[in-house]
Amino acid sequence: MTSRGYFSAKIKDQMNLPVYMDHHATTPLDPRVLEAMLPYLTEKFGNPASCTHRYGWDAQAGIEKARKQVARLVNAKPEEIIFTSGATESDNLAIKGAAGANRQRGNRIVTLAIEHHAVLDACRRLEGEGLSVTYLPVTRDGLLNLDDFKRALTDQTILVSVMAANNEIGTLQPISEIGKLCRERGILFHTDAVQAIGKIEVDVERMCVDLLSISAHKIYGPKGVGALYVRQNDPRLKLIPLLDGGGHERGMRSGTLNVAGIVGLGQASEICQQEISREPDRLRALRDRLKDGILAGLDDVRINGSMEQRLPNNLNLSFAGVDAESFLMALNNVALSSGSACNSAGDSPSYVLQALGLPEDLAAGSIRFGLGRFNTEEEVEFTVHRVVETVKSLRELSTLPATTKSPTPQDKT
Ligand SMILES: *Cc1c(COP(=O)(O)O)cnc(C)c1O
Repeated sequence: MTSRGYFSAKIKDQMNLPVYMDHHATTPLDPRVLEAMLPYLTEKFGNPASCTHRYGWDAQAGIEKARKQVARLVNAKPEEIIFTSGATESDNLAIKGAAGANRQRGNRIVTLAIEHHAVLDACRRLEGEGLSVTYLPVTRDGLLNLDDFKRALTDQTILVSVMAANNEIGTLQPISEIGKLCRERGILFHTDAVQAIGKIEVDVERMCVDLLSISAHKIYGPKGVGALYVRQNDPRLKLIPLLDGGGHERGMRSGTLNVAGIVGLGQASEICQQEISREPDRLRALRDRLKDGILAGLDDVRINGSMEQRLPNNLNLSFAGVDAESFLMALNNVALSSGSACNSAGDSPSYVLQALGLPEDLAAGSIRFGLGRFNTEEEVEFTVHRVVETVKSLRELSTLPATTKSPTPQDKT
């Protein structure tokens, strides 16, 4: 397939099957991003640390352009952007790095029960090393209660990590309020903004954020590259690095830079910034059409998470009497998931939905819809139709006497 194959095929036939509606797991590479990356995989192959020849200078120029593009997207200074291998590394570097550098100031971390595993498991690791971590619960709507939050802060708290937007239910936390409360108390504030970037305004100054994680492949860039924003205060915010080596990235992230990937992240950031005035409204309209269509076609559907404080491209539904696994097996031609992307630990039912207080059967039946840049109205209509048909047929099956059930739900569709 040529670089534009996926998209030109889509324009010709309107729909690529299966319809991709799992954009919280990953996004397709935008062809404009690929185009920006290609020279850095071919003629501009130099090591940006080589300062004695053109090959090195070209690579270095690509990196510094990308640093500016990423910085502009979140209203930071270019020197405050550290490139990493992705948001898992950014989250680990922020949390372990800040905890390690601030052990003399205190030993407490405050985070949310519905954070991504990259945050939760980094915190668990630190608990094993003697730090004390508070995992704050959320309301039934999936939101942090600010009074609970204030009560959790002590004079031993050195770091707060609260995600801007959740990757399963799309709920948006009150980041600016949290940032102000942290700043007043001299506590470092990290936010995992992976899902928020490109969908809501993200501004490290307005939000009073000290550390912020970004992933390229969630914003139509390549996999395996990300960034951590690290505030340059006076004195500068220090992090203990995860990797020792050549001292790249201001000593915070050693290792030869992934030049093409970083150039891709830069280009993806610039496109997000250009499209932020229009794209969220378009996504919201498609998402609401999806929601209204499914709710009109089916009874006993529960919406998980607040509809007001929510990403414009997210919908998370539970269908009473239908478990997610059978649903996804029976659903043809639409790529969706239950909760987060499959992980080897096999979270089932989702810890995020359990944190909302959902009974286990509803938590086990939740389906995540994530709309994206290349989804069309036709695809939304198609998805409504497929979801309604599939849930109806599964519900019919489950009311039949056991002997007349077909062996697998797929046989019905
Ligand atoms: C995808 C995701 C991550 C991990 O990002 P990678 O770049 O894949 O390591 C972290 N946090 C959130 C909220 C995510 O959605």
